Amino acid sequence: MTFLYKSDPTRGLEWARLFAQKAPELPFRIWPDVGDPGEVRFLAAWMPPAEIMATFPNLELLFSVGAGVDQFDFSALPQELPVVRMVEPGIIDSMVEYATLAVLALHRDLVTYAAQQREQVWRQIRVRPAAQRRVGILGLGTLGEAVSRKLAGFGFPVAGWSRSRRAIEGVTCYAGADEMKAFLARSDILVCLLPLTAETRGILGADLFAMLPEGARLANCGRGGHLDQDALLSALDSGRISAAVLDVTDPEPLPAGHPLWNHPQILVTPHIASMTQPETAVDVVLDNLKRHRAGEPLVGLVDRGRGY
Ligand code: NAP
Repeated sequence: MTFLYKSDPTRGLEWARLFAQKAPELPFRIWPDVGDPGEVRFLAAWMPPAEIMATFPNLELLFSVGAGVDQFDFSALPQELPVVRMVEPGIIDSMVEYATLAVLALHRDLVTYAAQQREQVWRQIRVRPAAQRRVGILGLGTLGEAVSRKLAGFGFPVAGWSRSRRAIEGVTCYAGADEMKAFLARSDILVCLLPLTAETRGILGADLFAMLPEGARLANCGRGGHLDQDALLSALDSGRISAAVLDVTDPEPLPAGHPLWNHPQILVTPHIASMTQPETAVDVVLDNLKRHRAGEPLVGLVDRGRGY
């Protein structure tokens, strides 16, 4: 019975050290050193190999090493194979930091000041109190909820939007397509923390931007596929959106010369908002293996019907 890791090999070595400490009885291997493929029961991967069941006929569980699973081609994965996304404290903490950074940067006009610095312009923009800047979070799951709680602590009026109704103290919760318009109309800063699914692909587009207050600000911490990049550029030109922080783009890396690179009202970071931390991730994976053996529900089990 083998646990196989197929992702960044440097982090794989950290996983190997932690597995050796915490679960010495379970053989751990790093792709492409798979050993006997028939022994591979558990696979943690960013991109699973093609022909996964033909390659590993006894595979019992597939773990994503990241919080999202949009990189998986579900049509190539057998229906009965449980797929588990990464829900671990390291990812949550780093996303809370990044989303806070992005919202504070947008709130305090840092994108504009960075552009002004490049032009050697000394121009002050009046400071607006947090209480007068309404923040809206698309997606109130593991990450969106943690982010919304932190931002409410700064005094921003915070609201969130999800598919099913959520209840978070200090956060106004909107749900479903019917309430989207009202949610967007009160979002001066909009943060995307949705999973990328057939329903959410391209959601950050002209129709959505039209429902935001004039001059709203945007932080995309989800996936590049959520954003219609041309629509953003038009919305920035027209003033509908006044600034954006983008941690994710499509494609990644963003190609040289792409218009997002040099736009004065856009700050781009290279998909670093949050990263799985091996120390905490291995604990969560080992706990899930215990649950799997005991026939208990897995933490982070993906609902194939919803796509996340
Ligand atoms: P999660 O726990 O599954 O939460 C997803 C949230 O989005 C839920 O509130 C869900 O609604 C809502 N949602 C999904 N589809 C929707 C729809 N069609 N309409 C309205 N709401 C919808 O996911 P998570 O762990 O918070 O992660 C969210 C995403 O963050 C990941 O999928 C990934 O794309 C992104 N991410 C990015 C980075 C980075 O470094 N940039 C790192 C980690 C994760 P319900 O509550 O009703 O289910």
